[in-house]
Amino acid sequence: MNERTIHRKATEDYRWDQVDLLPYKEDDRALFKAITRQTLFSGPGMNGELRYFEMAADGFSTLERHEHMHAVLILRGRGHCLVGDEVRAIETRDLVTVPPMTWHQFRATQGEPLGFLCMVNAERDKPQLPTADDLARLKADPKIAAFLESKPRG
Ligand code: MN
Repeated sequence: MNERTIHRKATEDYRWDQVDLLPYKEDDRALFKAITRQTLFSGPGMNGELRYFEMAADGFSTLERHEHMHAVLILRGRGHCLVGDEVRAIETRDLVTVPPMTWHQFRATQGEPLGFLCMVNAERDKPQLPTADDLARLKADPKIAAFLESKPRG
């Protein structure tokens, strides 16, 4: 065993010692806005990774689905998320899980940053992006259409 304890001090603005602030994704096919990524912990022998994502006001994550699951804990601010066919208001300390092959997106809709921890499998399948047909199906629901335009009600 050569694993050592890690204690990363956090700053007021949700940065952690010796953790790089990275672009959200390398994949530029995907649509997203004003979002960064920090990998807080991953390691050999761990089947999971803990990441922190943060979007600036009006930012959003990619609308996607995949076989792997997410457990998301809101750590900063408020916003809305789409999971499946549900649009939900979310705020600090809320927990949201994303089941397999379920469309999901997070949006900082409340004029403030939205930051969350996301637990995920270390080895995972590549996210799928919606086709034009998928998007049309999603937008047939007025509450999802409003969400995707970043104008959720309530
Ligand atoms: Mn995802």
